[in-house]
Amino acid sequence: MNAQKRHEIFKRLREHNPEPTTELHWSTPFELLTAVLLSAQATDVGVNKATARLFPVANTPQAVLDLGINSLKEHIRTIGLYNTKAENLMKTCHILVEQHDGEVPRTRPALEALPGVGRKTANVILNTAFGEPTIAVDTHIFRVSNRTGLAKGKDVVEVENKLLRHVPTEFLQDAHHWLILHGRYTCVARKPRCGSCVIEDLCEFKGKVDIA
Ligand code: SF4
Repeated sequence: MNAQKRHEIFKRLREHNPEPTTELHWSTPFELLTAVLLSAQATDVGVNKATARLFPVANTPQAVLDLGINSLKEHIRTIGLYNTKAENLMKTCHILVEQHDGEVPRTRPALEALPGVGRKTANVILNTAFGEPTIAVDTHIFRVSNRTGLAKGKDVVEVENKLLRHVPTEFLQDAHHWLILHGRYTCVARKPRCGSCVIEDLCEFKGKVDIA
C-alpha cells in the first residue's frame, strides 16, 4: 500500500471519529493499568462493571493492598480468570509501592517487569495514559492491518513495527484506537461490514463482502 492511501485511510478514520479512545473506564494511570490487567479474555463492558465496584473502594496500589486478596477477588469475581488476575494485580501493587512510590512507571522495561503486563499492555499504558505514540497490536489491529494492506505481517511484532514505520506522524498517537474500533465494529472477524466501511475504496482486502 502506498503512503498516500495510508494517509487517506487515517484521514477518513479521523473524520469518522475525531477523538477516539479506549472503551475502558479509567481516570488515573493506575486505574487504566488495573482495567487492562483485568481485560484479558473479558469484554470492556464486563471490566467496566467490575471496576465500577472496585475503584470507589480501592483505586491506588496501596488501597488494593489494604483491601487484601480475598476482598479483591470478591470485587472482580464476575470477570473470567479472576483468580489469576487478582494475584497478578496484588503482586503488581506490591512492586508499584515498593519500587515506584505507588505510581505507574512510564517506561516500557519497568511496565513489562510487572506481573501480567506484556508488550501489548505496556503499549496501551504508554499510549493511552502517557500519550506516547505506541501501537498495541491486538487481534483487531492485527486483522485490520493485514486485511487492508496497511501493515501486513505474520505476527503482532511485525505488524507493530510496520505500523510504527508507516503510519503518518500526525495520526500515530490515535492510530491504535482507530484501528481497534474499526476492527471491533466494522472490520469484524467473521463477516466484515464492507458495505458500510468508510475506507472500503482504499482497502486492498480480496474477500470484501456486502458491498452495495
Ligand atoms: S472494506 Fe471490508 S475488509 Fe476492508 S477494512 Fe472495510 S470492512 Fe474491513
